[in-house]
Amino acid sequence: MGTKRDYYDILGVSKNASPEEIKKAYRKIAIKYHPDKNPGDKEAEDKFKEAAEAYEVLSHAEKKQRYDQFGHQGVDGNFGGGGMNMDDIFSSFGDIFSDFFGGGGGGGRQGYSRGVRRGKDLRVRLKLNLQEIANGVEKTIKVPRYISCDTCGGNGAKNGSALKTCHTCNGTGQVRKIMNTMLGQMVSTSTCPTCEGEGQIVESKCSACHGEGRIQKEEVIKVQVPAGVTEGVQLSMSGKGNVPKRGGMAGDLIIVIEEVEDDNLKREGANVHYPLYISFADAALGTTVEVPTINGKVKIPIAAGTQSGKVLRLRGKGIKELNGFGTGDQLIHVNVWTPTSLSSEEKQFFEKFRESSNFKPKPDKSERNSIFDRVREFFD
Ligand SMILES: [Zn+2]
Ligand SMILES: [Zn+2]
Repeated sequence: MGTKRDYYDILGVSKNASPEEIKKAYRKIAIKYHPDKNPGDKEAEDKFKEAAEAYEVLSHAEKKQRYDQFGHQGVDGNFGGGGMNMDDIFSSFGDIFSDFFGGGGGGGRQGYSRGVRRGKDLRVRLKLNLQEIANGVEKTIKVPRYISCDTCGGNGAKNGSALKTCHTCNGTGQVRKIMNTMLGQMVSTSTCPTCEGEGQIVESKCSACHGEGRIQKEEVIKVQVPAGVTEGVQLSMSGKGNVPKRGGMAGDLIIVIEEVEDDNLKREGANVHYPLYISFADAALGTTVEVPTINGKVKIPIAAGTQSGKVLRLRGKGIKELNGFGTGDQLIHVNVWTPTSLSSEEKQFFEKFRESSNFKPKPDKSERNSIFDRVREFFD
């Protein structure tokens, strides 16, 4: 995407703005660019949508946190356009205009009804191996989700017949109860039990969806996973969750990342670690070894006289940072392998070396200090 503006800039607030300040800022912009005040003005409409998208994220504690941490990629970055359409905006934030546009319905605009129901979010787990995490990947997943019923057009009624106004609540969706209490008459309202708050009932049910107005279908969805995600990161795709019964907005699809551990490489943030075992002879004489990296094997030289515990760094062979700033390294931890059992011939062989002064450890100062360097490298 890249061309997307910063959500804080769009609303003209600082990163430390309170929820109240964010709401106020959004309301100001939304009223200025409201389609009722700017009919046919495409630029105003874009501004209106842009502000709604920013507000949708920044007014939502969890999304705001993800945005602060990962930027646009953390909220919807790679998901085909993201954004919100007009129906979404009025159904989500209609309340915000009510003081200004006569309190009626989302600004009194035809076609944008207030109180549009929203379906449930769907959550799926997505397993990724180290290579996919390091490079980013496009995954195709199958998600069983509720979608609008084609047969009845989503209202749940047979042959597209109209719904009947609920007789219990006369279409209000709520029932009032008057109770006599010690303090006098009290009125309480509750959701109508006949229509479950919908205000309308299906008289003859659509046979395809049994009156639900939706059917469950396995949908194939492409997910663009950015490089550098970690276990537990959640990517959301708006409108890819369930559609509610008998019409409304679909919820979101939340994709929870799961890391599959690699057999050879251990991930730590943007770096990967690899333990390398070499023989006494290779450590003393030097050699070339092949080591696995995220993107295939590479050959590296081992200098003659390499000590156990040495850490070799393959710069840039780690994982890309999710925020786009840089790439980690691969750290190769050299271990000199000590044989655990020896033949009598080998024993004699080593007995001879034991006497050689060359085989007495003589670490210099830098060698002794390297144990601290190593620790630093692990946690930097
Ligand atoms: Zn149907
Ligand atoms: Zn009712």
